[in-house]
Amino acid sequence: MRIIPKKSVRILDPETLRRRGLRLTGPRRLILELVRGTDLHPTAEWVYRRVRRRLSRVSLGTVYRNLRLLVDEGIVKELPGTVGRHAGKARFDGNTSVHHHFTCSNCGGIHDLAEPVDPSLDRRMAARTGFSISHHRIEFYGRCLVCQARQGPRRRARKRR
Ligand code: ZN
Ligand code: MN
Repeated sequence: MRIIPKKSVRILDPETLRRRGLRLTGPRRLILELVRGTDLHPTAEWVYRRVRRRLSRVSLGTVYRNLRLLVDEGIVKELPGTVGRHAGKARFDGNTSVHHHFTCSNCGGIHDLAEPVDPSLDRRMAARTGFSISHHRIEFYGRCLVCQARQGPRRRARKRR
């Protein structure tokens, strides 16, 4: 479920891309479409599997290289290190607006949160530290609804002790 409306995702017009000398063709365009078209915050491997369905000759290396390039250009966001099953694996977000995330410590699922970003926190931190702060992002961790249901109440109660 994508809580943040799709229209808040900044769409780069062809002119901006041309100015940056970035061509969006073939695998690169498909990779961008795939990352923007899902709210799963996928790994490179996930993107690779989907790309292969349409362009069977594309290598994992090509997918990595293009994801890196899209991240460097600010067109796709890379999320900080996650926990659980996907620990250590980079995750990609086609929604480049500043928003918070919930990560399930059990299944590694990452969800967008509708919690508004509070710009006064940036100002407070800047005043306190002297740092120039561009933005902040809050990461929440815990168990998603699916994992809570799978675990059942008995095991959950035992684990809390
Ligand atoms: Zn989960
Ligand atoms: Mn996100």
